[in-house]
Formats: sequence, structure tokens, C-alpha cells
Amino acid sequence: MSDDNHLAERAAKAQKIIAAPLKFKVCEGCDSIVTARVVTCPNCHGYRFDESPDRVVEQATHLASRPQQSVTAEDLS
Ligand SMILES: [Zn+2]
Repeated sequence: MSDDNHLAERAAKAQKIIAAPLKFKVCEGCDSIVTARVVTCPNCHGYRFDESPDRVVEQATHLASRPQQSVTAEDLS
């Protein structure tokens, strides 16, 4: 698998998040973007989230350019 494909896929996910930030929130524990309806973070099991659209968009923008972090929102389609 090429990194380019990973980046393209990540950028596509980020675009969907940026288009609908109210459906997502950012985990305070690990900075993952998760769907707004989860109660605990699937990554770190944290329960503190930042639900502000500004923060979600900012984080999604970071994710699009940083291959290391994961987007855990599974139901973006
Ligand atoms: Zn977390």
C-alpha cells in the first residue's frame, strides 16, 4: 500500500468531517475524531470530548495532513 493512497483516503474522510462537523467530536484524551453519538472513545476509552464544530474542523484539517493519527469514525459513508 502506498502512503499516497492512505493520505488521499484520509483527506477524503477529513473532507466529510469538515462538511458536517456537528456529527463529530474530538476526544480530549487522544485527539481522535469520533462520531458524536459515542459515549466513550473507541481508542482510549476516554469520556471527555470537545464537541465544538470549530475544534472538529481544526482537528480534521490536522488529520488530513498527518498520516500518523487515525480517524476512528467508521460510518462516514
Ligand atoms: Zn480518545
